[in-house]
Amino acid sequence: MSIISNSLKRIKPSPTIAVSQKARELKAAGKDVIGLGAGEPDFDTPNNIKNAAIKAIRGGDTKYTAVDGTPALKKAIIKKFKKENNLKYSVEEITVGTGGKQVLYNAFMATLNKGDEVIIPAPFWVSYPDMVLLAGGKPKIVKCSEGENFKLTPAKLKKAISKKTKWLILNSPSNPTGASYTKKEIVKLSKILAKHKKIHILSDDIYEHISYDKSKYFTIAQVSNLKNRTLTMNGVSKSYAMTGWRIGYAGGPKEIIKAIRKVQSQSTSNPSSISQAAAVEALNGTQSFIKTRSKEFKKRRDFVVKSLNNIKGVNCLTPDGAFYVFPSCKKLLNKKTKLKTDSEFVEKLLEKANVAVVQGSAFGLPGYFRISYATSMQKLKVAMERIKSFCNNLN
Ligand code: PLP
Repeated sequence: MSIISNSLKRIKPSPTIAVSQKARELKAAGKDVIGLGAGEPDFDTPNNIKNAAIKAIRGGDTKYTAVDGTPALKKAIIKKFKKENNLKYSVEEITVGTGGKQVLYNAFMATLNKGDEVIIPAPFWVSYPDMVLLAGGKPKIVKCSEGENFKLTPAKLKKAISKKTKWLILNSPSNPTGASYTKKEIVKLSKILAKHKKIHILSDDIYEHISYDKSKYFTIAQVSNLKNRTLTMNGVSKSYAMTGWRIGYAGGPKEIIKAIRKVQSQSTSNPSSISQAAAVEALNGTQSFIKTRSKEFKKRRDFVVKSLNNIKGVNCLTPDGAFYVFPSCKKLLNKKTKLKTDSEFVEKLLEKANVAVVQGSAFGLPGYFRISYATSMQKLKVAMERIKSFCNNLN
């Protein structure tokens, strides 16, 4: 009998983390690898946030806190939701976890029974299906094509819904495509969801602040009548370059928030007290650098999209946000190039050109690859040259 549980056997390690690890190993072995696999901003955490953490340490803010967040952080989150999303939550409707990842994991653990279905539009963030599987649920993957801008259409949503559907996950701007849903598109989806009163919506808004036209950013609870069955998840990782601090949060119905707290109380308890103090400053302090950094990301996006579209055999849409592009390599998978799959393309690219990217199949849509442009323009320039010469040599 195996020591490993059956539920663990249902899942695999995160493929994006695996790519970053491989790139790190090659670099350590002396190879000049450019890693475009990581999902984190290359910028440093702003100083005002670091100082708040130092102050918290010096001030003795070093003990257990309330399981799902300090009153100060919950207050800051409530203010953020009201100001930026016009969403009104009470303290009992807010939860804080060790990263958005933990909030999502807790939500599935707290709500899924065996056989419950979760609709996941593909391409998707790699962790959604595995988290659902681990919690005993069933991922219902709905492929969204390049022609649909990689977004879920009302017709596809309608078709995917069954009596067993418990959640729909929406992620805008998206990892891995950077695509964002317009207000009109969200409203259309919500009209269908309004008819299915048992379905809950998990809105993963972690890339909200890396939206190139912030005035057009909307989250579903804000533009529908579905707030009472929506969990609106967000966090400080991407917006404030705080991936290592591990703070994520959500606003949602009291019943779900309470259940999430129960899971957390028997697993990790509170997120780090120091990180929570830092997150209070992130949310309440100056927001000015968000704009400056978004501008820089936009410059990089424009450069990367243009460079990729100049490569024969590669096609790349222009995304609205996040720091990813999701180009197609389908035309390069043929007898002549001797490459059959996106995974082979990505492996060869790393081996021959020293550029690490992630295969589209890891995100549920083969024939593509994901590039994270959260790295310096200098590195991006070299990487684009390497990808171009690699692709040209394939033909
Ligand atoms: N959701 C998406 C779409 C992500 O890309 C990530 C991180 O890569 C997360 C959630 C989780 O972020 P964190 O746990 O750092 O808050």
